[in-house]
This record gives sequence, structure tokens and C-alpha cells, in this order.
Amino acid sequence: MLTIGDARLTLVDGGSFRLDGGAMHGVVPKTLWSKLVSCDAANRCRYSTRCLVIEVAGRRVLVETGNGDKFPPKLKDIYGIDHDRAIGAALGEVGLSPDDVDTVVMTHLHFDHSGGTTRRTASGGIEPVFRRARHVVQRREWEDATHPHERNRASYLPENIAPLGEAGLLQLADGEAEIAPGVRVIPTPGHTAGHQSVLIGQPGGPRALFLGDVAPTAVHVRLPWVMAYDLEPARTLETKRALFSRAVAEDWLVIWGHDPDHQAGRLTVDKDGGFVVRELVTV
Ligand SMILES: [Zn+2]
Repeated sequence: MLTIGDARLTLVDGGSFRLDGGAMHGVVPKTLWSKLVSCDAANRCRYSTRCLVIEVAGRRVLVETGNGDKFPPKLKDIYGIDHDRAIGAALGEVGLSPDDVDTVVMTHLHFDHSGGTTRRTASGGIEPVFRRARHVVQRREWEDATHPHERNRASYLPENIAPLGEAGLLQLADGEAEIAPGVRVIPTPGHTAGHQSVLIGQPGGPRALFLGDVAPTAVHVRLPWVMAYDLEPARTLETKRALFSRAVAEDWLVIWGHDPDHQAGRLTVDKDGGFVVRELVTV
């Protein structure tokens, strides 16, 4: 648990999964990334799906919902998911239930961020997990997720997305928006065009940034380390440059969603002008 101004931040473990090491490191050759990140015989690296609970002014905001527990066996095998970890169980570990959450924010709607928003019913249907929460995503993200193409279709699974719209639980943001006192979503395009990050804290005070897939792990702080999954990798690079410049100038704590070893840290600029991690922080 960590306090940023009036906000209490608690990390929640949404479970781990595996993704192709090459895809995760984009144009960075394996000879370089394999010195820092280990992979299995199928070239997959293990990643967490870290979620964040923000409690402020009597409100409870959940950022991200993990992979959820709806995967069929074939996909569980492909993504190395060796557990059925529902976000409800993860929240239970910190004394909360889905009904305690009044706002769910997803940085984007790929399955490893939105999978926990819905669950199967006993009769085989699908229902929202957070029945009293508004679900905040960028309008652009919603439009892309509901009109996928061949490149992103495997990431946008209708069972994670459509029930939210049908239940009227969506709040679509058009750019930056304050979603709770001192909690803002800010557009951070590149991984997807409608990707957003979550900035916590007041201007001039301490601030924390939940990055989402702008930089999924600490090694991705390096500007050229951009995932091959990103739809617009050069845009991710510029998003990182602008975001990390602010993070260094204002000493933000940045939180990584997929790093299995490091939860958060503070950044600095090295002698070559690149961004590096200055300090690791446990939340
Ligand atoms: Zn992701």
C-alpha cells in the first residue's frame, strides 16, 4: 500500500501469463533482451497482469482487470495461463469484492486488461463482474475494439467487451478526463490508438502514473524498446518521450503492469539522453 496525496494505492495480482519474447521486444534482437529477460523453450517470457486499486474521497477505482477466467484450454495453453484467476479472487486478497468498486478503468481493451470484466454464468452466458461500476475507456479504443481487423482481432475478444456496452456500464472518454478527485486518464497512443494511462495526484504534489502498455515492464523504459504488438510503434516512442520527460521533471512514480519482478520505480535521464530507471519501488 502506498499513499499519493489523498489517494491510497494498492496493487492487486491479476495472475501471470506468457507472451512471445520476440513480439514483446519489437526490433530489439534476442541477443540483447535475453541478457535481461528469460524465456522458456517456446521463446515465451512470463508476465504479470498487475491491477491497481485507488481509494480516494470515498471512491474506489480499479485499474485493469487481468486475463479473467474464461479462456478455453487451447488459448490457456498458448498463453501459458496455468490458473483460473478471476479478478474477484484477487480483490478478495486485499479485502475487497467487485461490488466495492465504483469505477473500472482499462488502459485499453486487449484481453489481458479486460478479461476480468466479465464471467461465465452457470447457464453458459456471460455477465459483467462489476455490476455497479462505470467502465472508463477512451471512445477511440471502444470503436477500434468493436471493429477489429486482422492485425488486432486476436487481442479484442467480444466476450470481454460487448456485455459492458449491452449492460450500459460504459463511460467513454474523449481525451484527458478526471474520473475521481485527483485521478485522471490521459491519452497515451501507440500500443493502440485509443490507449490511455492513469495519472494519480494533484499538480505540484506527488504523482503516480499507471503506464499500461506504454511500457509494460521496466526494460521497456528504454525508448526504442517498443513491443511488436503495438499498432503504431513510432507513436509509442513519441508518447514515451513526452510522458517520461514529465515523469522525470516532476519525479512521478511509474507503475508497470506486466513486469513480474518490478512493481514501480522512478526514472531519470542517463548521460546519452535516454530514459532509465533511477530507483525501484515496492508499493
Ligand atoms: Zn497488455
